[in-house]
Amino acid sequence: MNVHDSEKMAGILKAEGYTETAYTEEADLIIFNTCSIRQKAEQKFRSELGRIKLLKIKNPLLKIAVAGCIAQQKGRDILKRNPQVDYVFGPQNVHKLSSMLTADTMVCIEDNPEIQHTDIPAERKDNVKAWVSIMYGCNNFCSYCIVPYTRGREKSRPSENIYKEIHELSENGFKEVTLLGQNVNSYDSDTNFAGLLRKINAITGIERIRFVTSHPRDLSDELILCIKELPKICGHIHLPLQSGSSRILKLMNRGYTYEDYLEKVGKLKECVPDIAITTDIIAGFPSETDNDHSLTIEALKRIEFDGIFAFKFSPRPGTKAAEMDDKISEKIKSLRLYEILGYQDDITLRKNKELEGSLQEVLVEGVSKTNNGKITGRTRTNKIINLEGDAALVGRLINVEIRKALRHSLEGRLTNQA
Ligand code: SAH
Ligand code: SF4
Repeated sequence: MNVHDSEKMAGILKAEGYTETAYTEEADLIIFNTCSIRQKAEQKFRSELGRIKLLKIKNPLLKIAVAGCIAQQKGRDILKRNPQVDYVFGPQNVHKLSSMLTADTMVCIEDNPEIQHTDIPAERKDNVKAWVSIMYGCNNFCSYCIVPYTRGREKSRPSENIYKEIHELSENGFKEVTLLGQNVNSYDSDTNFAGLLRKINAITGIERIRFVTSHPRDLSDELILCIKELPKICGHIHLPLQSGSSRILKLMNRGYTYEDYLEKVGKLKECVPDIAITTDIIAGFPSETDNDHSLTIEALKRIEFDGIFAFKFSPRPGTKAAEMDDKISEKIKSLRLYEILGYQDDITLRKNKELEGSLQEVLVEGVSKTNNGKITGRTRTNKIINLEGDAALVGRLINVEIRKALRHSLEGRLTNQA
């Protein structure tokens, strides 16, 4: 989501006549688009901000902006504590960037009640696949999560606006879109999420549709049917479980039990047999016992995810979980995370190995950065695949035979064009 917000900022700046530079020393404007989902992201930003101070001494005309969720949370305080910063704006105020640049200093962290109607043309680097916002904010208030506080309440873009944006992308040669929202399953505008998918599926030129993130509680039968029936929807769903313990899920305010989750996964696998399922896991939520942790490990073994993102619980100031007693020590959190990742590594590799010898439809996304003469793309199930092939194939759907499975990618051979 932040990457796409940055594309929108780039779109605004391009219209203002700015061009991008790879060298901070050359820049007239530097924007930090910050994330505060976990403490680690915040720390990275702080050390970068310190580094940039010197540049401002060398180039007094340089303007520095802090955007994103840290900007939203800290607001004017950032200006006070960091005299090198000129502008501060939160994720709901990206559209104000151009007017901000005419001011000396500015802080924009107010809510934008019309964000769903505030369309900003994004400047995208890629020309095969594109992120597209379908909704903003979140109403869920999972007890560990800062997002509802920084990105505000849930608001869905009208389907017509989304349709127009994707139609234009298709005319510009894009082949794949990933629909973005914190909880896409609760998309609610002039139609629901299934209705939106049907509409997008009809756009000629777009070959693949993906979406993130799905909240397990709101994963409806109608949506599962859509994944099965609409040919362009890829067979991959990112469905964050967070914990295999229903007691912890309750404390997290996730709105489902482990059993509910299993039931949804069962339906998904029954309806779409080849579907790849990936997830997010939090290790060491307050009061998590060894038993709760082993329930998470059991869940990984039982569900056999295609991949996971796992994180140590990070207390975010202002959230309920940050106030909870019985915090888990850093050491235990690390041990649990390590164990989770270890189990999953084996599962990921095993699942990838199952694909050896199979034929997969691949959308070629680009030439490989590391290997000359190689191209890279993804299967419908979102697995990265590298193979020998001509750069002219970029943007095309091809059939690939999987020769070798590695943990984080596959190696294949071009058979013919799909
Ligand atoms: N809206 C998405 C998730 C957005 S945040 C959803 O509900 O699925 C992405 C992931 O970061 C979450 O799924 C969670 O696993 C992790 N995360 C969020 N807050 C966290 C925190 N305070 N500590 C550790 N991990 C966190
Ligand atoms: Fe955060 Fe939960 Fe909303 Fe996801 S659904 S953004 S985890 S509050």
